[in-house]
Amino acid sequence: MDIILFGPPGAGKGTQAAAIAERARVPHISTGDIFRKNLREGTELGKLAKGYMDRGELVPDSVVCDLVTDRLTHADAVAGSLLDGFPRTVMQAELLLDWLEAQGRTVGAVINLQVDDDVLVRRLSGRRTCSACGASYHVDHNPPSVAGVCDECGSAVVQRADDSEETVAARLATYHDQTAAVLPVLRRRATVSDIDGNQAIDRVKAAVLAVIDAADG
Ligand code: ADP
Ligand code: ADP
Ligand code: ZN
Repeated sequence: MDIILFGPPGAGKGTQAAAIAERARVPHISTGDIFRKNLREGTELGKLAKGYMDRGELVPDSVVCDLVTDRLTHADAVAGSLLDGFPRTVMQAELLLDWLEAQGRTVGAVINLQVDDDVLVRRLSGRRTCSACGASYHVDHNPPSVAGVCDECGSAVVQRADDSEETVAARLATYHDQTAAVLPVLRRRATVSDIDGNQAIDRVKAAVLAVIDAADG
């Protein structure tokens, strides 16, 4: 089963992703993580994505769509996936749903994490991210057990360049201008479960796992 994890930047997608992927037995595919890995490795894709990411803009659809459909044909993802951060435009959504349909695949669940803008700003400004595995932390709400060290892999936990105040504002504007319009498309073509993402991390986790169990059963 393919699952779409949807929501604005800072909604808690990365925080909830590992538990969902484990429960549904599918790989977690985060387009943001893929771009950041390419940035670190200095690939052509990383160089292309950097400018857009630094400005809080979206990487062009053609680049992202090819990247995702290619990833979805890898052996670990042919039976299903958890898509985090994709689709982010109406074109990405239509293309993904058409592509999955053509492959005989179905979107088993869309989890829509709903969080108020003022909460998003506080979350993004306090976010810290593992420089190696992408695990997401927060200085107040979810600090790593040892300051600056990732619980999952032991690598350094840092602040993402695009979590600076100006870039956060640009990313939220991008979400409202281009990504919010994806929701009506998803509602038309799949079953969307709206989750109150303003709740504490454990409450959100229980709610999203209940959706996965219902879709799986
Ligand atoms: P967040 O976790 O804050 O929502 P991501 O890590 O998902 O952010 O994305 C970081 C950046 O990577 C985005 O601001 C954008 O520049 C780029 N990006 C990620 N996913 C997409 C996508 N589906 N389409 C276009 N650009 C994307
Ligand atoms: P996204 O992947 O949707 O951009 P993240 O999962 O990275 O969002 O979460 C953004 C920030 O908010 C992180 O610092 C994370 O620790 C924190 N966070 C996530 N979910 C919650 C929650 N339910 N309550 C409080 N803080 C949260
Ligand atoms: Zn890590």
